[in-house]
Amino acid sequence: MSLLFDVIKKIKGKDIRKADFSLRQFRVTTCKNCENLLKTGNCKICGCFIVDKSSYLLEQCPIKKW
Ligand code: SF4
Repeated sequence: MSLLFDVIKKIKGKDIRKADFSLRQFRVTTCKNCENLLKTGNCKICGCFIVDKSSYLLEQCPIKKW
């Protein structure tokens, strides 16, 4: 799935640099403890799938938790 998101982001002219392992781990852990994480694995606020969203360096939590 990540490759597909890379392609979509590139087409949109967005940055596709990846976060390192520890940053991803922090983000995913934060999301797992967040009341806005849905059972489907996506965020209730932005709609993004957390596993994918957390992997991009410049992505941000919509309510600034990370
Ligand atoms: S992106 Fe932010 S608001 Fe969404 S689930 Fe993660 S921590 Fe919660």
